[in-house]
Amino acid sequence: MRVDSIDKLFIEELKDLYSAENQITKALPKMANAASSKDLKKAFESHLRETEGQIERLVQICNILGTSPKGKSCEGMKSVLDEGSSMLHESAEGDVRDAALISAAQRVEHYEMAAYGTVRTYAQLLGQSQVAKLLEETLEEEKAADQKLTSIAQKVNVRAQQPA
Ligand code: FE
Ligand code: ZN
Ligand code: FE
Repeated sequence: MRVDSIDKLFIEELKDLYSAENQITKALPKMANAASSKDLKKAFESHLRETEGQIERLVQICNILGTSPKGKSCEGMKSVLDEGSSMLHESAEGDVRDAALISAAQRVEHYEMAAYGTVRTYAQLLGQSQVAKLLEETLEEEKAADQKLTSIAQKVNVRAQQPA
């Protein structure tokens, strides 16, 4: 199928996000396990539950639009997660590894913020106000998750800087 309209591009990007979110639900438990900081562990665990809700929203949105969320593989998220995983395995356990985890997780959140901002705007343009509202809810959760990581980083990075 040739993507020759915003409607079609919109669906393709929603499918891409569905794939991205599913990859994230597999990565977050590993990230929570690798984290030493209790706050960081908790942040990953609570974002996992949030991410499951975001997947449900994408299913709901695709129902509204009469399509399936399946059928695409997000290669961008796959690479972001692969790179994060390599950095994690290269870093020493403790504060430095936590700093690497935060760095990787913030890349994930920013990728999602870019994607959700775009599809939210497409939904508005296409007059899909209910869908736009659902996408906006997820976008706000991603922004809050990113800000939470910034605040945890303020402690973790300082500790990581001190000699072990
Ligand atoms: Fe997400
Ligand atoms: Zn993608
Ligand atoms: Fe997220």
